Amino acid sequence: MVKCSFCDRQAVYVNRISGLAYCRIHFIEYFERKARKTIRKYNMLNPGDHVVVGVSGGKDSMALLHFLLKLKKKIPGLEVTAVLVDEGIKGYREKTIPTLVNYAEKHSVKYIIASFKDYIGATLDEIVQKSFELKLPYMPCSYCGVFRRHVLNTVAREVGATVLATAHNLDDMVQTYLMNLINNSWDRILSLAPVRSSSEEYIVKRIKPFYEIPEKETALYALLNGLIQPEFNQCPYVKYNVRFTIRKLVNELEDKYPGSKYGLLRSLLELIELQNKVELVEKKFMQCAICGNPSSHPVCRGCVFRAQLGLLKNEEKLKLDVLLRENPDVAKLFKQSGSGKQLQ
Ligand code: SF4
Ligand code: ZN
Repeated sequence: MVKCSFCDRQAVYVNRISGLAYCRIHFIEYFERKARKTIRKYNMLNPGDHVVVGVSGGKDSMALLHFLLKLKKKIPGLEVTAVLVDEGIKGYREKTIPTLVNYAEKHSVKYIIASFKDYIGATLDEIVQKSFELKLPYMPCSYCGVFRRHVLNTVAREVGATVLATAHNLDDMVQTYLMNLINNSWDRILSLAPVRSSSEEYIVKRIKPFYEIPEKETALYALLNGLIQPEFNQCPYVKYNVRFTIRKLVNELEDKYPGSKYGLLRSLLELIELQNKVELVEKKFMQCAICGNPSSHPVCRGCVFRAQLGLLKNEEKLKLDVLLRENPDVAKLFKQSGSGKQLQ
């Protein structure tokens, strides 16, 4: 039996890099200290902030919600609202919704369930079917990610939130970083910063408090706090997601060479700093002319997808017709998207 490095209790976790062992109590302390340090380091939260937390009912987001509720006691006036985006994936999402609902009711947390059906006009299953019929060049996860961000941004603005928190952890960041390198999408690196904010009032500050915490620690924190059941529940579209291959490779690398994930994260942070310094990329936010959400193009990616899938409302269609006639950048955007070229 491995003993905790800080008391006589049995260890539940050993940090392979520091060699320190932690019992349940000391692990929870260590985890929360690390997340609080990230929040301070990047100035993520301030007294009086209203945080919308994107929650899927999975381990990372339940851990984030639980942690932020504890933090609420330390930051005066902090308000927390959980938002679960229901993509409409049959046999999958309905299993995780009760996890959030039960937790929120038990802890009196405000929560909103925002569905693709209501906010986008179709479930992800319907979108995938339609995309296949129209021979559009996108995988289910591309729609899922873009529309999930779209719904979260919209709800955050609707409820007047000042901050949008997501549960992306160190593993997520490293995987996305590598995916961008493989796609040669240097211009997307800036969006992987721990905080993104702007003086524009339509842009809700986005934060990632678990940015420097590995996935196995967020999972353990969720399990030790009884936030999730240790059962396997996988999205049926996961086989189309390149991320899972990259995840496997990075985990193998970490097994062989502990510290590799932190090394990659440090390299990502330095690249972001370098981009900010030399302004390699002119990356300004605009407001999407159709939905009003932040975008790096005149029309956001969510609205381009909605237009291609025939999901725009009538007044949105009219706006788009004018834009297509008057703004050559918008026409170019649709041409690129139709060919499957990645948009920013
Ligand atoms: Fe969405 Fe893809 Fe994740 Fe499924 S695997 S929830 S489709 S991003
Ligand atoms: Zn839009």
